Amino acid sequence: MKISDKILAFFDGHKRDLPWRNNPTPYKTLVSEIMLQQTRVDTVIPYFNRFMKELPTISSLAKADDELLYKLWQGLGYYNRAKNLKKAAIIIMEKHGGIIPNTISELESLPGIGPYTAGAIGAIAFQINTVAIDGNVLRVFSRYFGITDDIRLESTKNVIKSRLEGIYPANRLNDFTEALMEIGAIVCLPNGKPLCDTCPLSNACFAYSNKMIDVIPLKSKLVHRRKELKTVLFIKKEDRVLILKRPRTGILSNLWELPNIEGHLSKEEVLLWLSQNGLPASRVLSGINFVHIFTHIEWNMKSYVVQIDQIPFHMENDFIEITEIEKKYSVPTAFLPFFNQFK
Ligand code: SF4
Repeated sequence: MKISDKILAFFDGHKRDLPWRNNPTPYKTLVSEIMLQQTRVDTVIPYFNRFMKELPTISSLAKADDELLYKLWQGLGYYNRAKNLKKAAIIIMEKHGGIIPNTISELESLPGIGPYTAGAIGAIAFQINTVAIDGNVLRVFSRYFGITDDIRLESTKNVIKSRLEGIYPANRLNDFTEALMEIGAIVCLPNGKPLCDTCPLSNACFAYSNKMIDVIPLKSKLVHRRKELKTVLFIKKEDRVLILKRPRTGILSNLWELPNIEGHLSKEEVLLWLSQNGLPASRVLSGINFVHIFTHIEWNMKSYVVQIDQIPFHMENDFIEITEIEKKYSVPTAFLPFFNQFK
């Protein structure tokens, strides 16, 4: 049996029941592939289901209110994906008559869609003959082919890509693309624990037969992550809390946050900051500490819970009831622990 036939037979017998695989459409593929960037399948499923319920078509996404969009994305992280997804939907409505384009170059020209995502959408939604390589596929086939170069290098990806082109079948390109990802997700697991006994590739797998699954794939160290210290203030008056909108550009742009100051402040420094900002505090208590990790930045956050005597007149609209915040405001995951400490 050819290797591609084995892979497809494995997929037919073992594929997971995922919501974007039920009655698939290019729109479902587009949304799921964007959500799956840097995020695990199990995490994505409830977000995908909610998203499809609220925004079932490309035109509803193009017209979606930003607050609703961010709310649907809240907790999934990497909000730029949501922003770009909406921008892509607007372009699809305006330039492509509401039809998701079916060429790799047109897909790649849409915001937030790089070569991998374009390849995945192209192959899964439109049966385009293209190799889509993500981290899972790189791991499986560096092991299978016995490639010991660093898989973070573009040159290594290109080698794996061209070797894979040699085993692509003539048809069922959509299933084959998903099958490669599926083997990486449920059989050829990372961190030296692949389930080789159940793998359709085990007969000819280099790493398996040479006892090198702990060695391959070879991966260079992650890029350096910048550490930032922050003091987060949970400033409340009864059940209302002060939240502010983040700037229009930069990390977590346009989302809502708790007031925060660079550095780790002492209680006295917080009291000074509060009085300089016209917020008369009746009580300042130490809150939780929390570290949130982004791709290139790490926020090391110390917090204080501040009770104020009176909401200043000019801030009347900035203090929002906690239940309202939960329902309507998009607060990034980085700030949620400070709300959760009161549940
Ligand atoms: S045999 Fe094992 S190491 Fe090789 S591809 Fe399959 S699961 Fe991965």
